[in-house]
Amino acid sequence: MNEVAAATACLVCGEASGAPAYRYDGAVSVSSTARAIAVPTIVYVCEICGHGQTPALADISGYYDTAYNVHLESDDSDDLYDERDGVPLYRAQHQANVALEKLALAPGASVLDYGCGKGMSLRALLAARPDLDGAVFDVSDAYRTAWDAFVARRNQAAYTTPDSWAGRFDAVLSFFALEHVSDPRRFLTGIRKLLRPGGELHLTVPNVRRNVGDFIVVDHVNHFMPSSLRRALAEAGYIDVRIDEEAHDAAFVVNARRGFGRAGKIAPAEIAGYVAEAHQFAAFWQRASDAVASFERERACGRKSAIYGSGFYGVFIASRLANRDPLAYFLDRNPHQQAKRIFDRPVLAPDAIEDDVEVVYVGLNPARAREIAAGVAPLHRRDREFFYL
Ligand SMILES: [Zn+2]
Repeated sequence: MNEVAAATACLVCGEASGAPAYRYDGAVSVSSTARAIAVPTIVYVCEICGHGQTPALADISGYYDTAYNVHLESDDSDDLYDERDGVPLYRAQHQANVALEKLALAPGASVLDYGCGKGMSLRALLAARPDLDGAVFDVSDAYRTAWDAFVARRNQAAYTTPDSWAGRFDAVLSFFALEHVSDPRRFLTGIRKLLRPGGELHLTVPNVRRNVGDFIVVDHVNHFMPSSLRRALAEAGYIDVRIDEEAHDAAFVVNARRGFGRAGKIAPAEIAGYVAEAHQFAAFWQRASDAVASFERERACGRKSAIYGSGFYGVFIASRLANRDPLAYFLDRNPHQQAKRIFDRPVLAPDAIEDDVEVVYVGLNPARAREIAAGVAPLHRRDREFFYL
């Protein structure tokens, strides 16, 4: 393992990675879909470009083709992004809205959703703009039925893109794919070839600066910082790079053009700032494991407990407990979550919390955990010990 680790190079700039910035050798790591996976967690931080990276899970092609069919269960199982005036806004719809706003597409423009999964975002985009010529591509053939509902077969590609698509598209969309690929420069160069000269890439990728959990999710090979994103895009032949950290609550929204000439350089001091920030994320997670352990030992003391939040952060906490016997259940407001069992515990609506639960671990994004938990009345019906990451 050590020899392999020593030979690792940054996937963005090629510099030797050195020792991991974060390493956890316990029984389970947690994936971005909040699954517990029996591998260690290893994250390198590149001192040259600020890129964070995790060794790819073994058999990644099989993992994607068969085990990663997110949202295949039904048409309604799309993630809730937000609720505005009581109206649910789903992630795919939000992504389509942002893409339309950023791209200013001409009537009849050709748009490819690259690495699209079911293509929910493109589907929403075409519903708003039926004049557009939509196309889909993924490394899997598992989504054909979903694609057939809104894209003609000649505009579908699985596994590889046809040669005739070179230089064809006015815009290429890539939603939450770049974090998974083990050769991000090749991925971006591949998209560049599909764009017409001057055509525009619109890409979203998790923003670890707004959702620190992304730093240690074990199925994301790449944990981008703005510095490594800019570097990867410049090396893949993009110009006019714009990174928006506000348009999506947990993602970088990136626009860039296929063009000639050089992308702007990033000041060394700015890169150093991102490198330091990435190391702070590593330190945060190192402390988090210890914090769960000491709280469990000194405050929870074997008393009946629940975890509020059944996503990544809740599963992370459960994975770090030395003794899960006192853990009665998870609590989650999302009805889709309530059908699940995690570590053989049910996921219940917050209202179901019993009075004899004395300890609540709050498993939410630490940036908003206290504010959200404060608003969940059933948690506060009696005095309880609370744990926050
Ligand atoms: Zn690098």
